[in-house]
Amino acid sequence: MEKHSLDSFIEINQKIYDKRSVLLHEPVFSGNEKTYLNDVIDSTYVSYAGKYVDQFEKKIATFTGAKYAVSTVNGTAALHAALLTLGVMQGDEVITQSLTFVATVNAIKYCGADPIFLDVDEDTMGLSPDHLRHFLETNTIKVNGRVINKLSNNPISCIMPMHTFGIPARITELCSIAQDFDLPLLEDSAEALGSRSNGKHLGRYGKLGVLSFNSNKIITTGGGGMIITDDENAYLKLMHITKTGKVSHKYEFLHDEIGYNYRLPNLNACVGVAQLERLDEILALKKDLAVFWSGFFAPLGIKLKNGGKNDLINNWLIAIQLRSHQERSHFLDYTNDAGVSTRPIWTLMSDLPMFKNAISDNLLTSRHLADTIVNIPSGVPRNRLTR
Ligand SMILES: *Cc1c(COP(=O)(O)O)cnc(C)c1O
Repeated sequence: MEKHSLDSFIEINQKIYDKRSVLLHEPVFSGNEKTYLNDVIDSTYVSYAGKYVDQFEKKIATFTGAKYAVSTVNGTAALHAALLTLGVMQGDEVITQSLTFVATVNAIKYCGADPIFLDVDEDTMGLSPDHLRHFLETNTIKVNGRVINKLSNNPISCIMPMHTFGIPARITELCSIAQDFDLPLLEDSAEALGSRSNGKHLGRYGKLGVLSFNSNKIITTGGGGMIITDDENAYLKLMHITKTGKVSHKYEFLHDEIGYNYRLPNLNACVGVAQLERLDEILALKKDLAVFWSGFFAPLGIKLKNGGKNDLINNWLIAIQLRSHQERSHFLDYTNDAGVSTRPIWTLMSDLPMFKNAISDNLLTSRHLADTIVNIPSGVPRNRLTR
C-alpha cells in the first residue's frame, strides 16, 4: 500500500472513532449494564445462582435457535467442558486447525489429548473438508468402533473446526465427513455470535458449539462463555460437570465425578443480558463498517475476507489480505506507529513450542494466510449507537 493510502486509512479511522488512538475492538456499555449490575449487587446473588444467568442462557438459546445453552466462566472453559462431554480422554487425538487462537488447542491439552493440525480453506480460513477427508481416509482405520490414527496408534475422538473471525467454515461438508467416520464434531464458534450459514446459527451444526464473551468479542460479559446444543444428555452432563459434579440434594454434599467450578457468575451474566438487548444494532453497525472498508480497499486491489454467498457473517474482526509478508509488516508497523491498532492473524499453533511436535498436514494455505492476513479496527463506533 502506498503512503497516501495508508495515511488516509489512519485518518478515516480517527474520524470514525473520534479519537487519535484507535483500539482494535473496544466494547461499548451504554445500555442497561449498570442498572442490571446494581440489581445483582442489591440482590446479593453475585455468583452462579441468580436470575440473570438463566435469562442470559435462555436469550442465547433463543437467538441461536439452540434447545439448550450452558454458560461458563469463559470460552476456554466452555471448550474444555464441551470436549469432556464428548468423551475426549487422556491419550486421544482431536483434529483441529493450526490457524486458530491458542485456546482451541489448550482446551484439547487440558483433556490430556493431543491436537492434529490440518489445513484451512483459503476463502473461509476454517478447517478444509478436503484436507479432513483426505487425512481420515489415508491415515485412519476403524478398530472396535474407534477411529485409530495409524501414524500414532491413538484414537481420534473429535473434530473441532473453528470459524475464523466469525466467517463460517464449510460446516455442512465438515459435518457430513464427521458423520461418515462416526466422529462427534465440536464447533469453536467463539468468534461467531451472529454468524449463520444457510440461515442456521454457527455452533448448531456440530453436536456442541462454543461461544465466548471475552471483552474483545462481539458482545462481552467481562469474561464468559457458553455451550449450545440440541442434545439433552449433553446438556445434563454439561450442567453437572460445570457445577463441581454435585449430585442434587436438599443439603448433602455429594459429588460423583471430578467436576469444575466453571459456571458464569450472575454478576457477569447481567452484563450479557444488557449487551444482548443491542446485539442486532451492533451487528448492523458492524456490517456498515465492513461495507465501507470493502469499498475503501477494493480500488487498492485489497480484498476483505467475507465468506460465501449463503453466509451471514457477524464482521467480528474485519480481515484484509495483503499481497506479501513484507506488505503486511509494513502495514502493521505504519498503522500501529500512528496509534491505529491493527493486528496480524495468529502465529500457527504448529509453530508454538508446546505444539510443535503435533501431527499436521502440509498447512500451505494456513502459512500463506498467516503471512498475509491482518485485522483492522472493527469495534462499533460509539457515536453511531442510538444510545
Ligand atoms: C476468544 C476465543 C476463545 C476463548 O475464549 P475466552 O473466553 O477468551 O476463553 C476460544 N477460541 C477462539 C477461536 C477464540 O477466539
